[in-house]
Amino acid sequence: MYYNIVKGFLFLQIVFFIFATSVFSQQTSYIRPDITDKWKEYRKQVKADSNKKMVELQSAIPGMVYDLRYATSNNFMHRLMYPSKTRFTFLRLVAVKALQNAQSKLHEMGLGLKVFDAYRPYAVTEKFWELVHDERYVANPARGSGHNRGTSVDLTIFNLNSGLELDMGTGFDNFTDTAHHSFTDLPESVLQNRLLLKSTMEQNGFKALETEWWHYSLPQSSQYELLNLGFKKLKRKL
Ligand SMILES: [Zn+2]
Repeated sequence: MYYNIVKGFLFLQIVFFIFATSVFSQQTSYIRPDITDKWKEYRKQVKADSNKKMVELQSAIPGMVYDLRYATSNNFMHRLMYPSKTRFTFLRLVAVKALQNAQSKLHEMGLGLKVFDAYRPYAVTEKFWELVHDERYVANPARGSGHNRGTSVDLTIFNLNSGLELDMGTGFDNFTDTAHHSFTDLPESVLQNRLLLKSTMEQNGFKALETEWWHYSLPQSSQYELLNLGFKKLKRKL
């Protein structure tokens, strides 16, 4: 009798576990959009439209520097999201040209651009979603991100002489109201620094994101495919 009760209880536990798991997986599931994950396919797209070429930033933009946070554990996830030896990144040719213009404008003022993140393989966006699962902080893989399309960049401004970043009020990936463009309860110098980044980027064709002072993207992002090709692979000659 006692044995049967225990068995019955165990059975209920198993049923509950299966139910809970299925509810949870329903919440985390999404329909995968079209992804370009084959080199051949990407090459074909670039042949049809040369603006789609993924170009390594630093070799194309002299004076720009990298601080690729997701290739280190110095990010809000406190873990590596890219292969640890990722030392370079990419954007579509059209975005690189726009960034070149932004950099040369800043150069005249003794300033330069520092890039925290640019291209992000689609599989990494899926990984972010699996770990965080909150659209306030990470992109929903059902739609993907401008970073997956090679049209979004996270960046700040630094002083060419001192090497120091301009004070933007918060660090990169600070998910509080203070990082919003509409948040103005900040020292005048911080507001000026944010405005300098915003106006420089917008004058060169990028669009700001209200909730993240560091994130800029091209308005025509949706014309560019979501990519899932590794950083090393993109260094290959077309
Ligand atoms: Zn971003």
